[in-house]
Amino acid sequence: MTIALIAHDAKKELMIQFCIAYCGILSKHTLCATGTTGKLVSEATGLKVERFLSGAQGGDQQIAARIACNEIDMVLFFRDPHTVKEHEPNEMTLLRLCDVHNIPIATNIATGEMLIHGLERGDLDWRSIVRR
Ligand code: PGA
Repeated sequence: MTIALIAHDAKKELMIQFCIAYCGILSKHTLCATGTTGKLVSEATGLKVERFLSGAQGGDQQIAARIACNEIDMVLFFRDPHTVKEHEPNEMTLLRLCDVHNIPIATNIATGEMLIHGLERGDLDWRSIVRR
């Protein structure tokens, strides 16, 4: 499965801790991320992460485009609900495209934990049929 990682600045440390905790599961999958999130996660875990541009420079739109092409199977997008971002409309597009294509997306760590356990259990195996 291909998993996209995005974390707002206030949630980057949380994303790093999450990826350290679930390194064993994540290592069995293909990871991509917005620029800074990907850099921090790969430095902290040693996991291979394909990095797109930084979110503010369009990295979230690059991930959205891959979602539109059905190339992403799961999104972990840890959002900071307290800070307004200039590129928020682009993030809304990403959320919408996940709904369009039925891509599971976690916007907080509680849902992220459930998705990662579901992934490990095989709950997302149907994605490999849809992608064919
Ligand atoms: P970043 O982008 O990982 O490059 O910081 C995420 C964001 O939109 O804040």
